[in-house]
Amino acid sequence: MKKLVQTPVLVVGAGPVGLQIGMDLGWRGTDCVLIDEANGLPVIHPRAAGISPRTMEFCRRWGIVDQVRKFGFPADFDMSVVYCTSLVGHLIGREEYPPLQCQRQVPFSPENQWRCPQTVFDPLLANALRSYESVRLYYKHRLMAFKTSDDCVRAEVLDLENDRTSIIEAKYLVACDGAGSNITASLGIEAEGKRALSYSLNAVIDIPGFFKLHRMGEAVRYLFIGPEGTWANLTAVDGHDRWRFTLIGTEEKLELSKLDMKSEIRRAFGTDAIPFEIVAMAPWRRSESIAREYRRGRILIAGDAAHTMSPTGGHGMNTGAGDAVDLGWKLDAVLRGWGGAHLLDSYEAERRPVAIRNARNSSENFRTWLSAARSSDVTADTPAGHEARETVSRTLRESLRAEWDSWGIQLGYRYESSPICIPDGSPAPPDDPSDYVQSARPGSRAPHFWLPDGRSTLDLFGRGFVLLRLCAEDPDVGPLVRAATASRVPFSVVDINIADLRDLYGAPLVLVRPDGHTAWRGHAVPNRPDEVIDVVRGAGRGREHAPAGDERSTVPVSIAT
Ligand SMILES: Cc1cc2nc3c(=O)[nH]c(=O)nc-3n(C[C@H](O)[C@H](O)[C@H](O)COP(=O)(O)OP(=O)(O)OC[C@H]3O[C@@H](n4cnc5c(N)ncnc54)[C@H](O)[C@@H]3O)c2cc1C
Repeated sequence: MKKLVQTPVLVVGAGPVGLQIGMDLGWRGTDCVLIDEANGLPVIHPRAAGISPRTMEFCRRWGIVDQVRKFGFPADFDMSVVYCTSLVGHLIGREEYPPLQCQRQVPFSPENQWRCPQTVFDPLLANALRSYESVRLYYKHRLMAFKTSDDCVRAEVLDLENDRTSIIEAKYLVACDGAGSNITASLGIEAEGKRALSYSLNAVIDIPGFFKLHRMGEAVRYLFIGPEGTWANLTAVDGHDRWRFTLIGTEEKLELSKLDMKSEIRRAFGTDAIPFEIVAMAPWRRSESIAREYRRGRILIAGDAAHTMSPTGGHGMNTGAGDAVDLGWKLDAVLRGWGGAHLLDSYEAERRPVAIRNARNSSENFRTWLSAARSSDVTADTPAGHEARETVSRTLRESLRAEWDSWGIQLGYRYESSPICIPDGSPAPPDDPSDYVQSARPGSRAPHFWLPDGRSTLDLFGRGFVLLRLCAEDPDVGPLVRAATASRVPFSVVDINIADLRDLYGAPLVLVRPDGHTAWRGHAVPNRPDEVIDVVRGAGRGREHAPAGDERSTVPVSIAT
């Protein structure tokens, strides 16, 4: 007889997104099982490295942000980007970026963007997960098949070590099985977008003492420009000897069996005198592809299984981290019984538009850096060559700036059409990819503000709903507290009387969800607090019927901080 394991949540795929779903559930004390067919050793082909400030904020919440900074990329490494015709050819431009330790602290977050290669980030998440009693993580376990019924999902899982099959019975299955997800395919969920923006071949290479072997200066990335445009790049993986060489081309040109990767690398180096060793190679397709559905009954889709985007900008995994945190509290709420019948549906309504937006921006970055650098004269030792390099340098600089300073993309996403946020009628601030202006307009990330005790406002959020009461007059919030209590919604009231904070949040009363997004704000307790609570916990009738916050209440309340 097959072994039977029961769990409320089965997460299939323990890549960075699956692991973050496990983290959020574990942090909430919710039972879950994660499986991955991989062996749990650091991945040979690390992809994600850029950790956005929002993902850093999540890591801060989970208590691992110091480890990301300590064990991630070396903090004193020069983060500049060089564009050149080859390492011994023309230097076209150099975009100066400071080492991580010298970054200017952004005013709108308690965290900065950071760099942590997947070879460190995934194991760090996996280790942290293991400290949660409620989480079980099994590597070398492959999902073979699954069946859904009215009350559960039954997954057939093969233990690759001993070739034994077991059944995992879960209330919900979260598909985090990456791009080309077999789970979405077997559900017949289609994707929309562009299947192939370009084809690339990655080679992970070791180059001991690289900086001493050329004169282009220290940098985290080198872009190689030929008459055909940007044809390759070299990116630091671990800040030591390991690098990733990416060759851009067509599907036919990049066929592994026909391609001499060593000679391509030598073309980029411009010399045979730089010794290197190829550790591994992998072809990949750059795409902009978004699943049409994020939920099918008891199955939820997250990370690359739901969306793929060009890595130009480094938004793929970070978008998946946003999925993880949106889903974590909703699954927890439903399993604990206070989440309403529509709460899990709001996951698609909130996260899919964000993926579409981020993927479009990433493709735009890619198009700019491809077209910016196309000039037949670029390698020539002539005045025309010089001019071509100047032009390429200028346009590449603009596109790289857009990638680096993408604060709006990273922090400014908001849940405009969410059925569980209550609009307050205020106009939407511009959705600028670079600029980010903090706003507590319902659906937005609740703004960061340093409190007198040294905490960030963000440190107040996470475990349940938080009602911020940001005024001196103490408006009576008893009706809201009682409505929350009646629905078993974890709810606390935090009093802070700081005028600047009130101005930043735009109202004296602001209701913040467990994921740190605002759900409602107003100048007085709403006249139907039970309806507000029902809407924000996914049990209400949606935004069209959302009650307005316009009526003062006189019921006394006890305040928890
Ligand atoms: C060159 C490159 C650079 C990038 N840089 C960045 C960056 O700087 N920042 C960023 O945010 N993003 C970046 N990305 C994107 C990022 O790598 C992905 O978005 C991210 O890895 C997706 O994580 P995931 O967990 O959804 O999927 P994956 O990392 O693909 O993980 C899926 C997991 O599912 C497992 N699995 C699959 N099928 C099964 C099965 N049947 N049973 C059990 N397990 C299964 C796999 O073994 C795997 O571990 C980059 C991508 C590329 C190509």
